[in-house]
Amino acid sequence: MGRLDGKVALITGGARGMGKSHARHFVAEGARVVIGDVLDDRGRAVADGIGEQRSRFVHHDVTSEADWAVAVDTALEAFGRLDVLVNNAGILRHAPIADMAPADFRQVLDVNLVGCWLGIRQAVKPMTAAGGGSIVNVSSIEGFVGAAGLSAYSASKFGVRGITKSAAQELGRFGIRVNSVHPGGVMTSMAVTAAQSFVDVDPAGFLKSLPIARFAEPVEISRLVAFLASDESSYTTGAEFLADGGLLSGPGY
Ligand code: NAD
Repeated sequence: MGRLDGKVALITGGARGMGKSHARHFVAEGARVVIGDVLDDRGRAVADGIGEQRSRFVHHDVTSEADWAVAVDTALEAFGRLDVLVNNAGILRHAPIADMAPADFRQVLDVNLVGCWLGIRQAVKPMTAAGGGSIVNVSSIEGFVGAAGLSAYSASKFGVRGITKSAAQELGRFGIRVNSVHPGGVMTSMAVTAAQSFVDVDPAGFLKSLPIARFAEPVEISRLVAFLASDESSYTTGAEFLADGGLLSGPGY
């Protein structure tokens, strides 16, 4: 018996990093998954590794309404329903406000925030038809605090928290729950790139200041996402879940 037996999930940004981990973990818990990403070769390889019985890859840019329609149709055609949406796709651009091109600021909002909203919009009908569902929006600790160089990223991740709460209010009557997840540092290419941008921060000192003094493995976030996707969290909606090794619990002294 898996936590997600019988459920069909669409996971965005599933070609690598946490999205790839979520897809594999969901399948291990009994789900069938549609993996969307703009990285076609890598995404297809993840789906091939899982096998056709339980997964499909679809080219899916979360900023495109047309791609959203194709991704949701893929779930319905391949597996007959849609129960879970994980809005995981995201990008990070590190730059001081005065140096950042407005186009870059807009692109971060477009992928991380508008993409999430477009997904919820597209999922309402099929989830309602399925008798309800669960939407898990991946925000960040930067959905609670800002950081120098991350104005666009943190604006987008604060926004994801707001969309989550409005959607929870709106969609409860259809049996659709909506929650947000807020990881701290997780071992993926995004974290490596981000760490390289923070040239003034000593990584060893940063890690030592955390109650759990290490980065997370992606699967540690996948387990939380799977809990929220499953019926085990049946009374939980509009809520925010930190998985940050205690980073935001205090100043570290
Ligand atoms: P990652 O860069 O490894 O993976 C992100 C995935 O999203 C990639 O496969 C990428 O191709 C895909 N993507 C980017 N733009 C896309 C688009 N327009 N349409 C569809 N897919 C697109 O990063 P990750 O660390 O696995 O990040 C996953 C999520 O977790 C992101 O939302 C990120 O902001 C969030 N997050 C990451 C960390 C961390 O420390 N790694 C911490 C907090 C939150």
